[in-house]
Amino acid sequence: MAQVNPVQVDDELFREIILDHYRHPRHRGLVEPADVATHGHNPLCGDEIDLSLRVRQDQVEAVGFEGQGCSISMAAASMMSEEVQGTSLANTKDLIRRFRAMLLEGQDPASLGDIGDLEALAGVRRYAARIKCAMLPWTALEAGLTQLEGSDGRNRD
Ligand code: ZN
Repeated sequence: MAQVNPVQVDDELFREIILDHYRHPRHRGLVEPADVATHGHNPLCGDEIDLSLRVRQDQVEAVGFEGQGCSISMAAASMMSEEVQGTSLANTKDLIRRFRAMLLEGQDPASLGDIGDLEALAGVRRYAARIKCAMLPWTALEAGLTQLEGSDGRNRD
């Protein structure tokens, strides 16, 4: 029996997951009404994303995006939205931290707890030019959270 390299198996699986999110994006479309809306742009690749969030009682009640760009950026936006929808703002910030640790610092995804399909993007680290593509929705998300804090949502609901 031929030896199967587990890394190659993972790559194959991860490629399938990325393509699935690209072809069937989750949470596509802006949410209405939204508390924050941000725009992200990656000039290196030409990726564009609009991200909108509705927040109630420190929970992301709804998240949605519109955009155009490469498969990595669009799949990353879909995966991110899936993880962020319905979770707390604190958890959202923690996800941003963990995703960054995986992609920018090269931390083993297995040491980062459950990050869902996002793990499939770990391999992007090997392609320096694509890291910004995978980070784009996260940069937009972080800008959205900063906007939210600046708008003083303390009394909301
Ligand atoms: Zn791109």
